[in-house]
Amino acid sequence: MPRRRLIAGNWKMNGLRASLAEARAVAEAVRAGRAPQADVLICPPFTLIAACAEACAGSGVAVGAQNCHAEASGAFTGEISAEMIADAGASWVIAGHSERRAMGESDEDVRAKALAGARAGLSVIVCVGETLQERDAGAAVARTRAQVRGSLPREAAGGELAVAYEPVWAIGTGRTPSLDDIAEMHAAIRAEIEAQSGPDAAGRTRVLYGGSVKPSNAAEILAVGDVDGALVGGASLKAADFLEIVAAGRT
Ligand code: PEP
Repeated sequence: MPRRRLIAGNWKMNGLRASLAEARAVAEAVRAGRAPQADVLICPPFTLIAACAEACAGSGVAVGAQNCHAEASGAFTGEISAEMIADAGASWVIAGHSERRAMGESDEDVRAKALAGARAGLSVIVCVGETLQERDAGAAVARTRAQVRGSLPREAAGGELAVAYEPVWAIGTGRTPSLDDIAEMHAAIRAEIEAQSGPDAAGRTRVLYGGSVKPSNAAEILAVGDVDGALVGGASLKAADFLEIVAAGRT
């Protein structure tokens, strides 16, 4: 069965209540049928999850968190568990974004977070991708496959498990890999999932591309084989830009 596109917006540490107008605009467009062939997901900061879920209710737009703690509850001041995220109305969580890996999250931490998301019934996007030094050293494939091996749970009851290939050097920089490089990396990620979890898992796992996706390059990136959608940072903050990317995801 062909995989349905997933276009996910990561608002990062951006967004006050006024920004809910952008989420509402996305929800209205999706409700009106502007994304017939893509699933649409918005990941606002924790503070906006409940209100965003309310704004998107019934539209088909899903809401997710950008991170979670591995434990369900306890003495972890300032942390948010996957159960709390689900309770706030979200259905997805991102694990292992490179901005969090840069703060010290290991593959093992990311795997624990992905399992926590599944435990809470959330779908999970696990992020992987090489640094510029690793690419320049010819180690992009090996590094990224190692991250898939280390941070993707082999079996995770709960929601869906997706992967986002996000070369660190392309995030927020306006630079993107060549389409051939994207194709090579996505094929390598799918091969690693197959080696770990078998052909069924490899066939159903959506592998998103992330890193400076914008309205002007979305169509060509989404047309690359094995690209099942996009994880969009900066260009997801404005509904008009994000909706152009969603529309570019049509097959
Ligand atoms: C991201 O935050 O995951 C991302 C890809 O950011 P940007 O689209 O701004 O590069």
